[in-house]
Amino acid sequence: MADSDQQGQFHQEVSLLDVSGIETGYDDLQILWNVGINVRRGERVIVLGANGAGKTTLLKALVGLLPAWKGAIHLNGEAVQGMRIDRRISRGVSYLSEVGVVAGLTIEENLRIGGYHLASGAVRSQMAVMYDFFPDLRARRREAAASLSGGQRKMLAVAKALMSRPQLVIMDEPSAGLSPLFVSEVISMVNRFHGEGISFLVAEQNVKFLEIADRVYVLDAGRMIFSGTVEELHKNDALERAYFGVYG
Ligand code: ATP
Repeated sequence: MADSDQQGQFHQEVSLLDVSGIETGYDDLQILWNVGINVRRGERVIVLGANGAGKTTLLKALVGLLPAWKGAIHLNGEAVQGMRIDRRISRGVSYLSEVGVVAGLTIEENLRIGGYHLASGAVRSQMAVMYDFFPDLRARRREAAASLSGGQRKMLAVAKALMSRPQLVIMDEPSAGLSPLFVSEVISMVNRFHGEGISFLVAEQNVKFLEIADRVYVLDAGRMIFSGTVEELHKNDALERAYFGVYG
């Protein structure tokens, strides 16, 4: 049998992001305990958790803003723990923090930051793509991000995260501080770009994001207490435990 046939026979799809046994925290304060998570190509994965559950800490460890004390992080099968954040970005990951934009810079400058590792021609063409998606941003491109409303800033943050042409966008509480109308807009934005082939890992408190979840994780006090589909979540008490501290 030819090698290629053998490889084909044993081929299994490599996850876009595969995380196991993550432990980390701040100084000697441990926040995460044996956390695992997995995102397959084309998925929208939601990590739900209450205030202080450790969502931001987890995302920071995934993108390299916080060192993982233990555990493994693989991107497209490549071990990236210990790798700098810019190297992870060049491997197709983009991170949208809760703040997301630099308020003192113009809209265009923010987009340039998002695409900083692209060649200048690619920056221009990707910026044109983003302006086509968000015409309001084009009209105001020379204005400071600080002049935008909360909802518009979130649009800019998403556009900035997409500037690097990522395979996977990691978003930290995109609904924070937004009105229900803008939360719905963020959700439809995720859907639109998911339709363009981008995968998403979104940490949220807002259960409205379950509407678009292909799979869900629930983080409670630094531990993953649930992993499954939305349907499975509804048959489980993980959300009650995570949000109300109710233990059955
Ligand atoms: P939120 O929705 O409030 O952002 P979260 O789920 O993102 O919550 P984290 O921000 O990861 O939670 O915080 C988890 C725990 O880590 C909390 O107890 C928080 O007080 C603590 N923590 C966060 N940042 C630091 C830090 N820089 N130094 C020390 N402790 C921190």
